[in-house]
Amino acid sequence: MHDDSKLATLLTTPAAGHGTVTPPIVQTSLFTFQDYDSFVARMAGQSDAPVYTRVQNPTVAEFERLMAQAEGAEAAVGFASGMGAIAAAIMAFIQPGQRIACVEHVYSDTYRLLERTIRPMGIEIDYHPINAFEEQPDLLKGYALAYLESPSSIVMQVMNLQQVAEHARRHGVVTMTDNSWATPVFQQPRRLGVDIVLHSASKYIGGHSDTVAGVAVGSAEHIGRIRDLTLPLLGAKLAPFEAFLLTRSLRTLHLRMERHQATANHFVDRLGQEPLVRQTHSPGANAVPGLTGRSGLLSLELDPDVDVARFCNALSIFRLGVSWGGFESLALPAQASLSQAGQFNSMQRFGVSPQLVRLSLGLEDPEDLWCDFHQALQMGTN
Ligand SMILES: *Cc1c(COP(=O)(O)O)cnc(C)c1O
Repeated sequence: MHDDSKLATLLTTPAAGHGTVTPPIVQTSLFTFQDYDSFVARMAGQSDAPVYTRVQNPTVAEFERLMAQAEGAEAAVGFASGMGAIAAAIMAFIQPGQRIACVEHVYSDTYRLLERTIRPMGIEIDYHPINAFEEQPDLLKGYALAYLESPSSIVMQVMNLQQVAEHARRHGVVTMTDNSWATPVFQQPRRLGVDIVLHSASKYIGGHSDTVAGVAVGSAEHIGRIRDLTLPLLGAKLAPFEAFLLTRSLRTLHLRMERHQATANHFVDRLGQEPLVRQTHSPGANAVPGLTGRSGLLSLELDPDVDVARFCNALSIFRLGVSWGGFESLALPAQASLSQAGQFNSMQRFGVSPQLVRLSLGLEDPEDLWCDFHQALQMGTN
């Protein structure tokens, strides 16, 4: 298990070798060579000097180095978005005729990727309830890939990743998990045996709602495969300026997560005594082995007496919007996602109550947030 103070030190240690505290933003598309021989040698793979920013860039490399260390892994690769990372990772490890086992309540656009893009390529996808992955040791037999999320999206169900990774290894199945909710501060799936860890860095890693980015973390071999097969060819490369912002954000990740957790605890303590809230979905420390904290993203099922529209309109500190993980508090009524136009709606597929509201608790004063939430709840029933 990791040690929190160690992670804090790691995230705040400047890179050696630049002579600067922050990494320079190497805003260039290409890198030139001194002479013919060094150019040819680089292309033949005899050096690892950067060539072209779609593949390699020193500012991006600094973010990747920090993320790999934070997750306790050998390597990481940055992407222009979480979906860029997820698509590149899945497509590097799956071929026509193979099968993917995916957890129910997977992130909505991952579900769309699997159904609209991956399945038509001749790949079978089965969705299993989250408990089945740990309770059925042979569930994964015959699959090439297990795609996991713990906690899952919207309903925040959790699994014992260590146990599932063990089952997967016995059947030779590659495992991937989306760790955007917990971040390496609260969960390090690589240390639990999961092969590849994925993040939407647009959420807590970025933390300031000013960047869309993603990252995949894993062994040198697994990340090398993504670097060879999909990163350069699908081309969803992380930009140097975005990588600079993310590196800056990582300096405070542990502090922000502590505050998100304190506010979430403040809410969870009170929500249990709130008759207008039927159920709270907010896994906390030790809900499953390896999970060491509660993030600020939770969801609630409001009593049928609460008019969700009136509740939402009565909020004043909480804003209405998608995404999460920033400094600002947000509310997302499930109905907004349930009524999203187009096919392949994960919330319809897996079933989510229209009385559900997801809250992203930001960095505002916890009591101010609770008062805002509570007065809106009252307004919603009047
Ligand atoms: C937002 C999100 C993603 C997608 O990330 P983008 O950066 O928006 O592409 C993936 N997984 C989860 C759990 C998310 O919430």
